[in-house]
Amino acid sequence: MIRTTTTILALTLLPFAVYAQDADIAADPARMEARINALGEFGRNPEGGVSRVAFSDADIAGRQYIMTLMRQAGLEVRVDTAGNVIGRREGSEDGLPPIMFGSHIDSVPGGGNYDGDVGVIGAIEVAQLIHERGIALRHPIEVISFTDEEGGLVGSRAMIGKLSDAAMDVVSHSGMTVRDGIRHVGGDPDRLDLAERKPGDIKAFIELHIEQGAILDEEEIDIGVVEGIVGIRWWDITVEGFANHAGTTPMNRRWDAMVTAAELALAINRIATELPGRQVATVGKIQAFPGAPNVIPGEVVMSLEIRDLDATKMQQVFDLVAAEAGRIGDSRNTPIRFQEIDVASPPAPTDEQMRRVIAASAEDLGLSFRLMPSGAGHDAQDMAMITPTGMIFVPSRDGISHSPREFTSAEDMANGATLLLRTVLSIDGGALE
Ligand SMILES: [Zn+2]
Repeated sequence: MIRTTTTILALTLLPFAVYAQDADIAADPARMEARINALGEFGRNPEGGVSRVAFSDADIAGRQYIMTLMRQAGLEVRVDTAGNVIGRREGSEDGLPPIMFGSHIDSVPGGGNYDGDVGVIGAIEVAQLIHERGIALRHPIEVISFTDEEGGLVGSRAMIGKLSDAAMDVVSHSGMTVRDGIRHVGGDPDRLDLAERKPGDIKAFIELHIEQGAILDEEEIDIGVVEGIVGIRWWDITVEGFANHAGTTPMNRRWDAMVTAAELALAINRIATELPGRQVATVGKIQAFPGAPNVIPGEVVMSLEIRDLDATKMQQVFDLVAAEAGRIGDSRNTPIRFQEIDVASPPAPTDEQMRRVIAASAEDLGLSFRLMPSGAGHDAQDMAMITPTGMIFVPSRDGISHSPREFTSAEDMANGATLLLRTVLSIDGGALE
């Protein structure tokens, strides 16, 4: 199965030049691991992970550390008005747009040392290798650490001009609003327009990230070439029954909203499982009203979430669920209503040519790889709206993430960074033209 994928890809690759003299350059696993551990000191929690939420003192200390590493890698460092940390190296040809790569260093509360961090440390490793070897690139490069990724892709959303006023008023885990937080880290929330990039401003964007799932680890594959970030849709489902005394109402005279909800939850799981494809559907929240042990539920409100890479597929899953809900509601005399909630997260496919370049580079390096979707959100999904975007996944041990038990080996991190370097060199050499 995996072999087949690799072969098909190899047959469709476009030939492109890799600088022969740079072909042996590889990331340093020991240096990367030492830096991941050093970064992990900022916001270290007792479980051995980090609680480095955006805009906290730990985040600011981590940002300082990242800026120091960027300068050591020969980059010119600045903070844009959205608070994104950007290290830039000029290219040899005037007027070319930069190749941008990076990720984020903020974490969820009680997070791990690898989510985001591997992408930033890996991007700096690439810049440092380019610097140390004196590799001449035609394009400028920009290494980026995005602001407050875990709080809603704040930095990248600002970069594409889509950070709303409402999003800026959200109170982040730091206790500060996003607006105040951006100011606190050296940005200017009143001049976000200056952080904005338009289509054509960036040559390409690449994000190296841990998988946060168990597929690569279980299948013992080095690299995931990300096909895209799945879209997310949410609904509130309301089941209307009739509240009545749980002791005096016989079983054959009930309109029990909870029983209908239970049948619907099973149906949703069955529909998402039986349909061919990788779509997922989840009922993650449920509430019964009035909500007492001795009252038959008169109303149940529950959530429905559907994710997939393909918007048509997401609609298909919903249509099947809605049809089944109609049948179940009728049969139990308890009407079911759906109301969609706007989470504004359409599927974000990565650039097809970028996938080919990444896959060809992996093949060159002798790394095993497979195509896969990302079930989690990333800054790359925003960047995909303004520039050809690619993502490289490296394995997460046991698929654990957003936990102190998150782990990626030094070798896997270095594989990802070497592949990132090779991809950047290929793009600079004209692989996307
Ligand atoms: Zn992340």
